[in-house]
Amino acid sequence: MTDKAFELVVFGGTGDLARRKILPALFKRFCAGQMPEPSRLIGAARSDMSSAEYRRFVSDAVAEFGGAVGKDELAQFLRQITYVPFDARGDAGWQELAEMLDPACIRAFYFSVGPGLFKDLAERLHAHGLVTEDSRIVVEKPFGHDLDTARALNRVLCSHFDERQIYRIDHYLGKETVQNLMAVRFGNMLFEPLWNSQYIDHIQITVAETVGIGGRGAYYEKAGAMRDMMQNHLMQLLCLIAMEPPAKFEPDAVRDEKLKVIRALDPVEPHHIVRGQYTQADGCAGFRDEVDNPRSKTESFIALKCHLSNWRWAGTPFYLRTGKRLKNRDSQITVVFKDTPHSIFGQDAGRHNNELTIQLQPNEGITLDVTIKKPGQGGMQLIDVPLDMSFAEALGPGADAPDAYERLIMDVIRGNQTLFMRNDEVEAAWAWTDPIIRGWEARGDVPKPYDAFTSGPDGALQLLRRDGREWRGIDG
Ligand code: NAP
Repeated sequence: MTDKAFELVVFGGTGDLARRKILPALFKRFCAGQMPEPSRLIGAARSDMSSAEYRRFVSDAVAEFGGAVGKDELAQFLRQITYVPFDARGDAGWQELAEMLDPACIRAFYFSVGPGLFKDLAERLHAHGLVTEDSRIVVEKPFGHDLDTARALNRVLCSHFDERQIYRIDHYLGKETVQNLMAVRFGNMLFEPLWNSQYIDHIQITVAETVGIGGRGAYYEKAGAMRDMMQNHLMQLLCLIAMEPPAKFEPDAVRDEKLKVIRALDPVEPHHIVRGQYTQADGCAGFRDEVDNPRSKTESFIALKCHLSNWRWAGTPFYLRTGKRLKNRDSQITVVFKDTPHSIFGQDAGRHNNELTIQLQPNEGITLDVTIKKPGQGGMQLIDVPLDMSFAEALGPGADAPDAYERLIMDVIRGNQTLFMRNDEVEAAWAWTDPIIRGWEARGDVPKPYDAFTSGPDGALQLLRRDGREWRGIDG
C-alpha cells in the first residue's frame, strides 16, 4: 500500500490498451484505497476532447472491462481524472501538462503509444522540464525490433532517465501465478532440490491463443511470433523457471539471475525450430489476407527446442511454443519429472511421471500430478491424480487474482522494479533472437501453413515426438 499521492499520466490515454487494461486496472486500485487524494490520472492524446468527455470515455471503459462497478466509487474515481490534448511529435499540450503537475506527487508517465513515439516522449518530457527525482516512465512492448534498435532506444531513455526510473513492462510478469511460481520454487523445500537436469526430464512452455492478428496486421507482418511473443513473454517465463535462487526478492537480485539464464541459452539449431502461418477457416481470414500480403513469410506460430549451458540444466530440453488461431486459449508451463529409476510394482502396474503444471490462461492455478494406487480390486495398478493448488478454491472468497496491470501499475508507483525488465536483459534476449531471425531471412525460410483452430503445424508435434515426448496443454 502506498500512502504517497501520485499522478499517472497515460500518454495514449484514448487507445486500446488504456481502454481495456490501464483504466480498469487503476479503477480497481482506486477501489482498494490505493489512489489517495490528491492522486490523479491524466489522460493525454492528440484527440481534442475536454476532461468531461474523457471522463465519459473512462467510465465506458471501466463499465466494459472493469467487472462489477459500484456507481458511487466510479463517480469518485472520475473526479480524480483530467485530460490534456497533446502531440508527442510537436509542442502542443506540453506546457499545459507541465502546469497541471504537482511537484509534491510521484510522477508516472505511461508510454501507451506506438513504439515509434517512445523516443519523442522521452525527449520532450526532458526538454519541457517534466522529469523530477520522483518521476518514472513505463515503456510498453515492443521494446525494439532487434538488438540494434533496442540498444538505440535504451541509449535514448538512459540519456534522459536513470535506469531506476525506467519500467519496461511485460505483463506476463504481473500475473499472480507467475509470481506464485517463484513462491512455490523458493518458499518450499519440496521442489528446489529436484529442480535440475538430474530429476527433470524436460520443461515445456505453451502460450496459445485462438484470436488472429485482428487489426494489428501492419505491425504483426513486421514482427511475427518470434518478436511479438517469444523474445519477451516466453523468454521471461523461461527465466523464472530456470533461474538460480536470488539472494533476495529484490529488483537487481532477481534480474541478475534472469540475465544469467538468457546468457546461458545456446544458439538454436535451425532443425529445432518450426514456424507456421494460419490459413483461412470457419469464416476467418487467413494470415496472408489479414496482412494483405499473399507472399508473407511472417510466422504466426513458432515452436522451438532450446538448451541452457549451465550446471543446473545441461542436458534438459526446454520446448517453447506460441501461436495464434490455435484450437484453445491455453498458456501453461509444464515441468515433467523423470521416471522413477525402477518400478517395484512391475511393468504391468503402469508408470507415470510427476508433472508440475503452472496454468496461466484461461484460469490461473498450479497442479502437481502424483502417482497413486488405483482404488479397488485388480491388484496394484497405478494412476495419476492432480494435487490441485487452484488458489481461488484453496484461499476462499476474496482471493481473486488481480489483473496483471493492477499489480504492475502499483509497483511503478511504489518504485518496485522486480517485475520489470532491465536494459541488459532486453538486450540479451534480442542477442539470442536476432541470429535466429537472420538465419530465416538468409535462407528465405517460409513458415508452414496450418489450419486455423488446430494445434499448429505437424512439425511442432514431431519436434517432441522425435524425442519420445508429447506436448501438454492444447493437445492434451
Ligand atoms: P492504439 O489503440 O493505436 O492507441 C494509440 C494511442 O496513442 C491513442 O490514444 C492515440 O490517440 C495516441 N497517439 C497516437 N499518436 C500520437 C501522437 N503523435 N501524439 C500523442 N498521442 C498519440 O494503440 P494501443 O493498442 O493502445 O497500444 C499502445 C502501446 O501498447 C503500443 O506500444 C502497443 O504495442 C502496446 N501494447 C498494446 C497492447 C494491446 O492490447 N492493445 C498489448 C501490449 C502492448 P490519438 O490518435 O487521439 O492521438
